Amino acid sequence: MAEEQARNENREVDSEKARVSMDRLFDIYRDIAETADEVMQTRCPYKDASSRCTAKFGCRNQFFTSDPTALPACAGSDQIDYRDAWDT
Ligand code: SF4
Repeated sequence: MAEEQARNENREVDSEKARVSMDRLFDIYRDIAETADEVMQTRCPYKDASSRCTAKFGCRNQFFTSDPTALPACAGSDQIDYRDAWDT
């Protein structure tokens, strides 16, 4: 009985509050998308947060270490168009 009452109370939604919340969420996602669009112009999408290369193809910016199990480091500068370095 108490559970059903709680469910009924949750059905009432403050539509104005919900709209403001959705607008704020949209603004946050828009900012993230704009930043991602800007960064992807120079930062290779295969470069992870630790500057390791996750590409499954050859690239002249890959720097392999003596550890055969480690991902290669990316020696790309993020200042130039990385796509010219790919082996395609
Ligand atoms: S080594 Fe090449 S493919 Fe890998 S992250 Fe760097 S630029 Fe991209």
